[in-house]
Amino acid sequence: MKTYKIATIPGDGIGKEVVPAGRIVMEAVASSQGDLRFEFENFDWGGDYYRQHGVMMPEDGLDALRGKDAILFGSAGDANIPDHITLWGLRLKICQGLDQYANVRPTRILPGIDGPLKRCAPEDLDWVIVRENSEGEYSGVGGRVHQGHPIEAATDVSIMTRVGVERILRFAFRLAQSRPRKQLTVITKSNAQRHAMVMWDEVAAQVAREFPDVAWDKELVDAATARMVNRPRTLDTIVATNLHADILSDLAAALAGSLGIAPTGNIDPERRYPSMFEPIHGSAFDIMGKGWANPVGTFWSVVMLLEHLGEAAAARRVMAAIEAVTADPALHTRDLGGQAGTDDVTRAVCAHLARHD
Ligand code: ATP
Ligand code: MG
Repeated sequence: MKTYKIATIPGDGIGKEVVPAGRIVMEAVASSQGDLRFEFENFDWGGDYYRQHGVMMPEDGLDALRGKDAILFGSAGDANIPDHITLWGLRLKICQGLDQYANVRPTRILPGIDGPLKRCAPEDLDWVIVRENSEGEYSGVGGRVHQGHPIEAATDVSIMTRVGVERILRFAFRLAQSRPRKQLTVITKSNAQRHAMVMWDEVAAQVAREFPDVAWDKELVDAATARMVNRPRTLDTIVATNLHADILSDLAAALAGSLGIAPTGNIDPERRYPSMFEPIHGSAFDIMGKGWANPVGTFWSVVMLLEHLGEAAAARRVMAAIEAVTADPALHTRDLGGQAGTDDVTRAVCAHLARHD
């Protein structure tokens, strides 16, 4: 019997609905598997915690997470608290504190889902986007002077270290190597950004020499958006900086049918600390409390969590259950044009897990 310690952090908005659903699915896969057990600890950090304590999570919060095997996260974002406080005070604090420097975002069109690309067959769109998750454009360095005056000025400094660039590119090449097509597209903007992005390109060429079996190419970020829409089949694994990948992965999620489906993992590839898995959507206050949230993005994140723990069989079973559910239009939530609720989808996934080993 293998036992894993899992932290759940629902956070805000529909995070409080989809993370408990994710936990139910994890319990269902464990009980139907027999050789697997999860010990959950829930952390009620987020907007409500901020209103009581003035911080999104406690000072020693990272210590509580370090002993876990993995983290299932919901969303950080509250209608009454500025976004930069909720983001930096919780999600980024964890990602940076646990050095989860690789953000991995698989994108596929699941069975039964009708994406906006009408000429695109499901097998034409099967990508993994790797996002640099620790530095770059979101390093937080910068400042404002002369606020409110005509001479006001502000900067956001993008910091890229050779170590940081090298480790994310090496991670991406290794991931590309593990996939059937062994193909990597390195996103750049070195035509306009003349310093850090030029170093990024140089490091890519250098790391590429360690992976002679990976076919790789370079694409400007602007051209990449058009290529994702017009020639999705020419892409497989994609690696980009923090900002570039942030934008490209939202486009990817939309092309795959709904923001509510897409999963992500914030990974520490060296496994010094637990990695954190979450749906890519945010708090979605417009549907909060209605029971409408699509839990598939969280369930797919559970699949990534299980894969990361090395529980490949359990991961495959949850993915098969998700695909069986998306294939049935009666189980589509409103974001997919259906009428099903979070609970209906959760029950259907659990029922599938109980029926199939
Ligand atoms: P945040 O500010 O935390 O990013 P948000 O209000 O911008 O949150 P998102 O979660 O980013 O909202 O999503 C935008 C919209 O997409 C939501 O308002 C919601 O209508 C829809 N949406 C997102 N996730 C889901 C989901 N899991 N199920 C159903 N609809 C969703
Ligand atoms: Mg948002």
